[in-house]
Amino acid sequence: MTCPYLAYRESADGASFDEARAYCEAAERFVQPMRADICNDRFDLDHAEDCEIYLDHAGDGDESDGRGEGDDA
Ligand code: SF4
Repeated sequence: MTCPYLAYRESADGASFDEARAYCEAAERFVQPMRADICNDRFDLDHAEDCEIYLDHAGDGDESDGRGEGDDA
């Protein structure tokens, strides 16, 4: 699952690009390539644990993750 704040935009905030780039709607800015791995939960990363921006916003009452599953180790 990718981060619910992740979007792809060709332009925002005065910057524009030829192709859509990862954009964080929580931080309202384009995402650095290294952080995009967190946004997309690539490798063993998890936006819900590894992104302080997400954690900051998720604590603001927009919690929509399903708890109670995922113990598949
Ligand atoms: S930077 Fe954090 S909050 Fe923003 S889209 Fe990526 S994982 Fe989500």
